[in-house]
Amino acid sequence: METTQSVKQFTDNREERAKAILQIGNPECLDENTYLVPSQFDSNKKYEVTHFDSYSCNCKDFELRCKGKGLYCKHIKAIILFEKVILLALKGKASMHDAHPDFSRNLLLSQPD
Ligand SMILES: [Zn+2]
Repeated sequence: METTQSVKQFTDNREERAKAILQIGNPECLDENTYLVPSQFDSNKKYEVTHFDSYSCNCKDFELRCKGKGLYCKHIKAIILFEKVILLALKGKASMHDAHPDFSRNLLLSQPD
């Protein structure tokens, strides 16, 4: 069961990194299916995440470890988190415990009343 464990470990790490990415900056929305996600370590670098039938990213982690396995890289996870928070914000729900508190607060502050 080592494989399952390491997959879960990777997944948990990606979740944490996704939150860290959203701390750096919000993803850019190019069109309704395409986002640019800032790199966690290089603010000049951006990864392209597309969402058609399923999510896809052009980073190495996705290409090598996630693609075809139903796994998502941290950039895709960042987009999923981002969409979740936006959706909740649009619905006017105050509870956003899925996202990092600072990120939610920043997002709330940037929403017009
Ligand atoms: Zn990626």
